[in-house]
Amino acid sequence: MARAKTTDAGPWLARLFFAVFALVLALAAPGRAAAQGLIRDAEIEQTLRAYCEPLWVAAGLDPADIDLYIVQDPSVNAFVAGGQNVFVHTGLIMAARTPNEIIGVLAHETGHIAGGHGARRSQFASNQAMGPMLISLALGVLAIAGGEPAAGAALISGSQQFAMSSFVQYTQAQESSADQAGLSYLEATGQSGRGLITFFNQQIRPYEFMSRRMPPYMMTHPFASDRVEALRRGVEASPHRDVAETQEVMRRFQFMQAKLIGFIRTQPQTLARYPLSDASQPARYARAVAYYRVSDMAHARVELEELMRQEPANPYYQELLGQILFENGHAEESVAYHRRSVELAPNQPLLQINLARALREARGRSGADESIDLLRTVTAREPDNAFAWRELALARNERGEVALAELASAEQNFALGDFGMAMSFAERARRQLPRNTTDYQRAVDIITVVGNAMRDSGRGRQGPGRR
Ligand SMILES: [Zn+2]
Repeated sequence: MARAKTTDAGPWLARLFFAVFALVLALAAPGRAAAQGLIRDAEIEQTLRAYCEPLWVAAGLDPADIDLYIVQDPSVNAFVAGGQNVFVHTGLIMAARTPNEIIGVLAHETGHIAGGHGARRSQFASNQAMGPMLISLALGVLAIAGGEPAAGAALISGSQQFAMSSFVQYTQAQESSADQAGLSYLEATGQSGRGLITFFNQQIRPYEFMSRRMPPYMMTHPFASDRVEALRRGVEASPHRDVAETQEVMRRFQFMQAKLIGFIRTQPQTLARYPLSDASQPARYARAVAYYRVSDMAHARVELEELMRQEPANPYYQELLGQILFENGHAEESVAYHRRSVELAPNQPLLQINLARALREARGRSGADESIDLLRTVTAREPDNAFAWRELALARNERGEVALAELASAEQNFALGDFGMAMSFAERARRQLPRNTTDYQRAVDIITVVGNAMRDSGRGRQGPGRR
């Protein structure tokens, strides 16, 4: 599905899906042990996509059609929702002992996409007040986006409290089919399937007869020992069973884990895992992040400067130092690092946003022109990126473009699923924008799409309201 700026139903439906999804995650957090939400990170997304894309191609899928999301959740899980949206929990990435384990799971998920396995409704826990109408709408749109309108109706009448992964539960037949398909993609790309077996044996099998502490992966993907036996036979029969990961795949894995550990674990935990005696790049990287998180800018900088000396062309070292400087009140100094990261890794929306934000923050009106150019590129590529729309609104305001700022705010709220606010900003923008311009049409489109979504939800213009 293209994400061009058309007004076809397709992209809008995808955007609605994303909007409600963002909200679902925001709302799913209460009552759960750990915060759950989508996280964005250019480096980790690049790594996961680099792992996935050969598999997707082997499956006959177009990587441009597939969106990949990282869910910050310590539990081990990965799943597909809404057809071609792959969700990977940080818990899975951190628990994996080899990149091949992650790649095996991703191959299996690709099997679900290629097989067109729609999500069944799994059992929801009941009755916890948290915006019932909103969640019903979310569930309905999610199911409809997945091409199952009937399921959508069932879900709308379903209960209110759920975790995201409660959307998804495959059948045993689908599981076996995804295993075999996944295996064929690994085969086609010359990779071993052993990681999938060790993943099952380490992460899943120990919980087979326990109802508590079960990884959510066992609920989304019902586990059966005989299925894994069939998989094991297939893996052992493969000529690629002993193929080791390439250095590049391994390196990406080490950096991804180091970064997540630095960001998610406490500083003492990170330093225990990556002690000062460890002079490897991933260890320095993890420590830099851990220092940054406790505002120890001096130590973070020492580690990062050494990393940059060793590898001056790594865009993510530049990005991290830029982020550290920006968040410590040195916006102007951060500009050079963010700019370098964009030069080293062009066309990465998240890096472009960093630069755009630093320019506006540091230079105000005189930074706004370049900032707007960057953000227009980003929002064309990622129309669901609420943060980019928010930055664009701020940069537009710097330039005194009030109506365009309001249009950007409408887009921001639409991406966040705040339909009431989206409508209100879009109406203000429409009143001020010159007719027969694409911006005017865009405002009208938002009003139409949001209005329809609100009516379909049976609540008229009340909408979800503010969170
Ligand atoms: Zn599965």
